[in-house]
Amino acid sequence: MLSRQNPEENTFARVQGLVRRVVGLVAASTVALGGSAGGGVGAAPGVIPTSLTAWTADVNGIVAPIGNAPAGGDLHAIKLQMPVIAIAGRPGTTGYWMASLDGGVFAFGGAPFLGSLGARPLNQPVVNIAPTPTGRGYWLVASDGGVFSFGDARFFGSLGSTPLNRPIVAMSSTATGHGYWLLASDGGVFAFGDARFFGSLGGERIAAPIATFAVSPRGRGYWLVDRTGRVRAFGDATPWGDANVGAALAVGIAPTKDANGYWIASSDGDVRAFGDAGPGASQAHLAGSTVGIATPWASSSGLALPLLEFLRTLARARSRQQIRTWVGPDEVALTFDDGPSQYTLGVLAALERLGVQATFFAVGTEVVSHPELVRAEADAGMAVGDHTWDHADLTHLSPAEITAELQRGSDAIAAATRRSPLCFRPPYGDTSPTIVSQAARLGLTQILWNVDPSDYLRPGTSTIVSRVLATANGRGLVVAIHDGGGDRSQTVAALPAIVFGLRARGYTFVRLC
Ligand code: ZN
Repeated sequence: MLSRQNPEENTFARVQGLVRRVVGLVAASTVALGGSAGGGVGAAPGVIPTSLTAWTADVNGIVAPIGNAPAGGDLHAIKLQMPVIAIAGRPGTTGYWMASLDGGVFAFGGAPFLGSLGARPLNQPVVNIAPTPTGRGYWLVASDGGVFSFGDARFFGSLGSTPLNRPIVAMSSTATGHGYWLLASDGGVFAFGDARFFGSLGGERIAAPIATFAVSPRGRGYWLVDRTGRVRAFGDATPWGDANVGAALAVGIAPTKDANGYWIASSDGDVRAFGDAGPGASQAHLAGSTVGIATPWASSSGLALPLLEFLRTLARARSRQQIRTWVGPDEVALTFDDGPSQYTLGVLAALERLGVQATFFAVGTEVVSHPELVRAEADAGMAVGDHTWDHADLTHLSPAEITAELQRGSDAIAAATRRSPLCFRPPYGDTSPTIVSQAARLGLTQILWNVDPSDYLRPGTSTIVSRVLATANGRGLVVAIHDGGGDRSQTVAALPAIVFGLRARGYTFVRLC
């Protein structure tokens, strides 16, 4: 039974073709970043298998029944606008729902359709669907932690207005339905309503992003599974082994009814069994990448984040073709480093009065302390670039550490401005080919400078002005000054004379990035 469809022609055909590639790329980069994959531990021989009733779904909405599960229908005849990102079983029945990235909900096998976000413009894409224990409601959760309730699902709070380090990837109800947990890709767990907190990986350094989780049947613990198939257990959840998913991505974990085992599904359609879980691997593989696994008692899906990452990279590549990363003759770009700080608003006010658009290279730790200042920069039409998470000298770091510094800085800016930066500036201008290529993989172009009046040494306002104007001989200028990192009142005071002086010499102000 199909309850919602998107009849119009769409972008999905394009997306669909790319999904398989993205999964391969993400898996490859996870391995390159040192992701650890443990050896798979199958069901012990001689153990009577717990019967498996489950379904997996792929990005096209095609469903593969496993074990005793009846075929309930799927989306094979439907043209989707955006990929399916989750499947959830209706508790106690053989019905199930699928959800798509744009908030569409599709109901099958007697599961009721109770509404969707399909027609609503969303700030951030939907990443998961979680049923209530009664099967008469469900929640949709977006990557920014926004929660949307349908049917008998009640709202117990969300992260919709909280800046997050990492996107939300999964959601699960408590046993009563009077609360839920949200899971972020860094392993952070957020409990609402009667959901109890049993621990998380938030703040820990993890080798690979967390894909999804499953709550233990008694609701007193949960298993988190990362992209490589590694499992972390909390509360009363017992770890039964890690899945070695090889070149695929782990996308779902479903415990057996007695919690003495679980199945782990991977993007290539494999289902691996652990503990007393019966064998799950023998199934028809789906044409598209598998997004998750659903049973009548537990469901989880975990392909949303790699899909989103890829779509974001596409969008960045497209916008990078339109951004300025250079200055021509008689052009000048003012760039402000090390903020935001208490001087940022003064800089913005001066630039606004002077009619100049500039570029800010913000430090992640400062962005997190003052997201409103970075938002003010973006709102004023300024470009915001990445100046790393904590102003580290990148030349002293490993490739994986370089990526982490830049990614964390970019994520902080994206959380504050809802726009991912396109450029970065290495602290101290210390750079290397490795740094440039690691940054390029994140979609970041390096911006250095050719004018440095050393305003950070506070030489006096008139000295700052004269040092900048002395370089103005008609060549393109990228001026590095500072709106953070110390007392910047001299810099703020120097701005009018710098702008008037350069304009008098025939310069036009351009914004980079
Ligand atoms: Zn700096």
